[in-house]
This record gives sequence, C-alpha cells and structure tokens, in this order.
Amino acid sequence: MPVNIKTKLGVNAYKIDPESHIAINHDVCKTKCTVKFCTFVCPARVYTLGDDGLIHVEHDGCLECGTCVIACRSDALTWKYPKAGQGVQYRFG
Ligand code: SF4
Ligand code: SF4
Repeated sequence: MPVNIKTKLGVNAYKIDPESHIAINHDVCKTKCTVKFCTFVCPARVYTLGDDGLIHVEHDGCLECGTCVIACRSDALTWKYPKAGQGVQYRFG
C-alpha cells in the first residue's frame, strides 16, 4: 500500500533543543517583507504570522531542509543546525 508524506514524516524522531537554532529579526520582517515567504515554504510549518503581527517560530518541528533560508529575501533569518545530536532524526524504512 502506498505511504503518503505525512505518514513518512511521522516516523521521524526529534530530540528537542530548548534553545532555538532559528532567530528572526522582527524589525526586518515588519518593514521589508510583505509576502512573509517563510510562512508558505516551510514544509513543517515552523513559521506562523501571529495576531500580534510578528512571525512566530516553533523550531522543534524543523526538518533542517534549508528552504526558509533561501526563501527569505531580506536576510531576516539566522539559521544554524541544532547542536550535535539534537534536532530531527530521519528514519528510513
Ligand atoms: S520571509 Fe524572512 S523577512 Fe519575510 S517574514 Fe519570513 S523571516 Fe521575515
Ligand atoms: S529548514 Fe526547512 S523545515 Fe526547518 S524551518 Fe526552514 S523551511 Fe522549515
């Protein structure tokens, strides 16, 4: 039986680093970015636009794909890999 992408992603494990590996410059987001690309491109929906007008980041679901860094045209994102041994652990099978 075919397995869909949500099911495949569900077998991944995460070792959560309480310290976020993603930082945002909110001033840049507010003044230079009307489209909010990060809220559309992230496959894990790490970024959401809050009612307060700020981008909220739930770093613990990050799949470490790098898409957001490419999509953010205003250099508002500082992204680094989680500390060694933390973050997503892909399971293939
Ligand atoms: S795409 Fe970049 S500048 Fe735009 S809202 Fe997201 S982090 Fe901010
Ligand atoms: S690296 Fe990929 S999964 Fe992680 S926040 Fe960026 S777009 Fe989302």
